[in-house]
Amino acid sequence: MRLEAQRNEKLYVLGELAAAIAHEIRNPMTVVRGFLQLLQEQHISPEKQKKFMQLSIDELDRSELIISNYLAFAKPQIDKPERIDVGQRIHSVADIISSFAILRSVTVEHQSEHDLIIAGDPEKLSQALMNLFKNGIEAMTQGGTLQIHAHKRGHSVQIEVIDTGVGMSAAELTRLGNPYYSTKEMGTGLGLMVTYRLIHSMNGQVGVKSEKGKGTRFTLTFPLLDKNALPD
Ligand code: ADP
Ligand code: MG
Repeated sequence: MRLEAQRNEKLYVLGELAAAIAHEIRNPMTVVRGFLQLLQEQHISPEKQKKFMQLSIDELDRSELIISNYLAFAKPQIDKPERIDVGQRIHSVADIISSFAILRSVTVEHQSEHDLIIAGDPEKLSQALMNLFKNGIEAMTQGGTLQIHAHKRGHSVQIEVIDTGVGMSAAELTRLGNPYYSTKEMGTGLGLMVTYRLIHSMNGQVGVKSEKGKGTRFTLTFPLLDKNALPD
């Protein structure tokens, strides 16, 4: 019964999300189309051209993220869990996000112990990390360093994502993960909802510490898989 209730809730959220996503993707499409038309028709200074192109790229990236969040959320839980090398995942997501970080004067530093293996879907972990890294970078409006540390803690793997950005008040913290909660002009408020669900689906937990004006630390904790064990 409980499973069925969960399934129904998920279907309901999926329906809501589909409508939100159609809306969210239409906006960037309109914006990019407008820029392309301007570039085609008008005589525009090279600086303006560059700006339009960058804005178009940002909008397309945003659409990409919205779609991959939706797909990660919608994916049924039928896949067998795989062995995930956490250090490798962190490395590859940090690479993917590097151009986004550079444009915002943020340096991304990551350090992982060896043999941090957990069980789950590697794509889901990447998606969750992508959302957290992106939020951390966006929070550092004056630039800074995003730090990611991964290590063993007993029989767990801990991943810490630390920024020195705008931070959150206690009241703001309680709203984290609620669908559509966003304080950003161009935000969707879907990233953390999806992230929390992905992490929970891999038996992980999320902790957040934050101080307004100082920064935020997300701590993810997953059961450690023995070096040679297979996930069940
Ligand atoms: P979005 O990024 O589209 O706004 P998210 O679900 O990713 O949606 O995040 C929701 C909100 O949580 C953000 O708009 C922001 O207010 C807050 N938030 C998330 N991560 C951080 C962070 N690292 N520092 C400060 N605020 C954050
Ligand atoms: Mg986000």
